[in-house]
Amino acid sequence: MPGRTVCARLSLVALSLTGLAAPLHAQTAQTAGRWPERAVRRDIPITNTIRRAYAAGTRDSTGRPGRNYWQIRTDYTINARLDAATSRLTGRETVVLHNSSPDSLGQIQLRLDPNIFLGNTPQAATWVPSEVTDGMIITRMTINGQSVDLAGPPPAGGDGARAAQAAAAAQNAVVPNQPTILGLRATTARVNLPTKLAPGSKTTLEIEWNHKIPGGPGVGHRMTQRWADTLYQPTQWYPRVAVYDDLRGWDNELYLGPSEFYNNFGRFDVSLDVPAGWIVTGTGILQNPEAVLTPNARERMKGVLASDKNTMIVGPDEVGPGQATQRGGPIAGSQGDRLVWRFVADSVNDFAWATAKKFVWEMTRATIPGKGAIPITMVYLPDRARLFERAGPIARHALEFYSKKWFPYQFPQLTLQDGPSSGMEYPMVINSNQGAADHETGHMWWPMVVSNNETWYGWMDEGFNQYMNILSDADAAGQAPNLDVLGQSYARTSGNEAEPPMMWLANYAGPQFYGFTTYSKTPLMLSMLGGIVGDSAVQRAHREWGTAWMFKHPSPWDYMFFMSKALKQDLGWFWYYWLFTTESVDGAIVKSTSTTGGRTTVTVRQDGQMPSPVVLEVKFASGSQPIRAMRNAVMKDAQTAIVTFPVDVWFSGNRTFDAVLDFGTRPIERIKLDPGCRFPDHDPSDNVWPRKPAAAAPAPAQQGQGRRATCD
Ligand SMILES: [Zn+2]
Repeated sequence: MPGRTVCARLSLVALSLTGLAAPLHAQTAQTAGRWPERAVRRDIPITNTIRRAYAAGTRDSTGRPGRNYWQIRTDYTINARLDAATSRLTGRETVVLHNSSPDSLGQIQLRLDPNIFLGNTPQAATWVPSEVTDGMIITRMTINGQSVDLAGPPPAGGDGARAAQAAAAAQNAVVPNQPTILGLRATTARVNLPTKLAPGSKTTLEIEWNHKIPGGPGVGHRMTQRWADTLYQPTQWYPRVAVYDDLRGWDNELYLGPSEFYNNFGRFDVSLDVPAGWIVTGTGILQNPEAVLTPNARERMKGVLASDKNTMIVGPDEVGPGQATQRGGPIAGSQGDRLVWRFVADSVNDFAWATAKKFVWEMTRATIPGKGAIPITMVYLPDRARLFERAGPIARHALEFYSKKWFPYQFPQLTLQDGPSSGMEYPMVINSNQGAADHETGHMWWPMVVSNNETWYGWMDEGFNQYMNILSDADAAGQAPNLDVLGQSYARTSGNEAEPPMMWLANYAGPQFYGFTTYSKTPLMLSMLGGIVGDSAVQRAHREWGTAWMFKHPSPWDYMFFMSKALKQDLGWFWYYWLFTTESVDGAIVKSTSTTGGRTTVTVRQDGQMPSPVVLEVKFASGSQPIRAMRNAVMKDAQTAIVTFPVDVWFSGNRTFDAVLDFGTRPIERIKLDPGCRFPDHDPSDNVWPRKPAAAAPAPAQQGQGRRATCD
């Protein structure tokens, strides 16, 4: 999803925190009340989940996939028919479940996301959903040919859908010991199997289903999937087999709306039956262009990969069968002439598509290092062309920039689809115009290739994406990215007891902090990491981590341990404070004293629970005295040194540290703590020595705004 603004909420928090922090910091160390001792934690908490994986050898503390790493695979063949008159999608699917786990499975967990539109299922945000529907109706299900009892135990209520399912089930031959299902009216359901699925076995599920594609007034999120009966963006639209992994077994988390998905990789072979004249785009490669596209369209496509310019494939004045598409013909069960569009995608973790009675279709290209040119497709309504004017160049820049930054784009195409769901990502598909094109394209790296569990740890895709969007925006503007200030600004939020730690299950982060924790906080964390090891080192390590986990399911522990190893530092303390707590550093220069022999002692204090290295910028007065070299200092320019003392200086629990500067007799004009503004700090005004006069300090409300932009 696009990064949603949380500025309004943050500035409120900033105000209250600044109001609270100011009197504390105004006091000197001598007059302040006694602070609690600080015991710095230096290791990463290990939960039972990851403990289990280490014991089994599926993961290990290198952060790479373990020697016994496994993941299950699901291959889908789906045939679906859209009835535009009723906005109903009717489908039949075959899923081959490869049990690559070492476990015998007595259940299969299914994800039935359209049940979130029932109106009586749990939801995490008020914007879910737009339209109340009858949810996902499953009319038939077999497992290895054995029918599943869809009636289940006698229903508590008597709703129509349930009765319809019971009636459908009654038509199936009911046999003893047949599989049963629980949760058909929830977003996740469980099939109980009379015979367990052996390790290494293949199981075939056949499911027949239908649901109404939800419309409604909402825009800008994935919950509204159609405009009237002329444009559809079906997403999370077919019954999915949940992930079974080495960490938690079956993923049975409810789908609550904001927190997104966790899906298996596999092959999709999808045939979509729509009215003739309607254009269809989606995940994968179109298998039957001769059957559905006009000769004109196919001819125009031939030049797409030859240049960066846009090519019109189906123009605004080409409408209906014979103009926008082939003419089509009758198909049993449908009215009017129809066309079936067939798409195939290998190794993807989902499939999404769109269709409209009148799409304009443009194409351009991106050039992927080591791979060559790939097509970018854009489909939009004729009167929304201005929203796609810059979409091609933005998507191209994102594909090319992120390919260089992380690893080459892994898919054969990218498609941008217009519609009410504007700001969502699926493999090879973004429901986005130019507005969110950079961000949504970024998701092709995480979670579409590096496939984290988004429901639990949304920061591992949304947060990483927010960080790289900063880099991409700067690159597109021809500037160097500025990651200063971000880390320091976290202190405006830190300390609010409503903020969940990032390792908390994002499904339950709550509406107040979901956006901050999942989207905004990660760039702040990586800003601080860059303040310790350098931004280019962070990005190099991140690239190596992503490459190690392509088409796999990394956990946060894999990320933490991999990064520490790749950065050759024991960063346990860093990951602990950023991911498992909501603490800040709150550094200050207490005093600076010149001593004999050209030495200066700078007393630094940390009032927060999170430690940080002590980084001091020392600005010298002009003069003829030589500036002596210090082992832990680098000269930024002829007059300025940056001195760094490692985080270890805090590990004994002390809250003050005497940093001894040994630069010789050249007078020091000014010392600044944390010159890059990378470490969370409620009150940066006390980071400078000599202190600025109190009267010159900005008022608390203005401090919050001033700090956001600059680091001076
Ligand atoms: Zn996103």
